[in-house]
Amino acid sequence: MYTPIVKGWITEQAQEITSLAIQVHGGMGFIEETGVAQHARDARILPIYEGTNGIQAIDLIGRKLYSDKGKAMASLLEEIEAELKESTSVHADKVKAVLHQAKRATEYCLSSMQKNPVLGTGLAYSYMMLMGYLIGAWLQLRAVQLSKQEGSQLDNAQQKSWLQSASFYCDHVLPRAGAHFDSIERGQSSIDDLDENSFNR
Ligand SMILES: Cc1cc2nc3c(=O)[nH]c(=O)nc-3n(C[C@H](O)[C@H](O)[C@H](O)COP(=O)(O)OP(=O)(O)OC[C@H]3O[C@@H](n4cnc5c(N)ncnc54)[C@H](O)[C@@H]3O)c2cc1C
Repeated sequence: MYTPIVKGWITEQAQEITSLAIQVHGGMGFIEETGVAQHARDARILPIYEGTNGIQAIDLIGRKLYSDKGKAMASLLEEIEAELKESTSVHADKVKAVLHQAKRATEYCLSSMQKNPVLGTGLAYSYMMLMGYLIGAWLQLRAVQLSKQEGSQLDNAQQKSWLQSASFYCDHVLPRAGAHFDSIERGQSSIDDLDENSFNR
């Protein structure tokens, strides 16, 4: 279940992160001497090799979701829900809202795949990205929780850094899940309308 999400979603993030790394260095980032541009070039292959992200997304919606009619995904979503219920984080409600979207998106995807397993895959990429943003948030909150637990090896500054990272993520990265949800909710019709002639024009 995790493989296409980890491979697909994280390698998409790598494009943005390495591009931002160039940006923060300004012109110096773009020229070769800083070495930053090399990271961006190296990262560009990640969404292609060991299965393109398009294929990873199709794997998620097909072999991982549709093949057992959503059972394994439901159990993952339940696990996330149970942990969020216990969470004392100020961000828990934001993650719960995305969890709700993920549940609805799962239903849309299952019903699209039921109607047409080929065209249904048109929702696959957005579904993979939505799940990635949700799981990223869930694990960020878990990391904060663990960093504060008794026996944690982290000092106060490190704990604060985990918390800041999770807060930034929940406020500024997680909302992107909503855009992928919208794309799934708006549905299949503009994809169904495409035929071979659409690509020849
Ligand atoms: C630097 C590099 C190193 C590599 N190293 C290895 C290696 O060590 N071992 C190895 O086995 N391979 C290796 N590969 C190959 C790599 O695994 C493939 O390039 C990769 O899986 C993509 O396959 P492809 O290039 O044939 O693209 P294609 O499969 O032709 O894909 C082209 C595009 O079409 C899309 N697409 C393809 N099929 C479908 C479909 N059914 N439905 C919808 N969209 C589809 C893809 O998402 C992609 O956007 C390497 C490639 C590179 C570039």
